[in-house]
Amino acid sequence: MGPICPTCHTGRLQPRAVSYVQWLGESLLVVHRVPAVVCDVCGERVYDDRAMRHLQRLLMMSNLDVVVTSRPYYLA
Ligand SMILES: [Zn+2]
Repeated sequence: MGPICPTCHTGRLQPRAVSYVQWLGESLLVVHRVPAVVCDVCGERVYDDRAMRHLQRLLMMSNLDVVVTSRPYYLA
């Protein structure tokens, strides 16, 4: 069992591979199979810190001016 969700205080955070999605101006950056924990009740998700650092380094090497965050950027 994972830790209690800090948002809904009901669900548990479960490790899952999810897609990281972020708008870059008019382009959509999508990275598949990013390790994260996801609440099984409210869907709150937090991306893995190491994966975010790795992704940030890749983006910098690509000269993409992007700051990734461990908190998701929900699509409207
Ligand atoms: Zn929750």
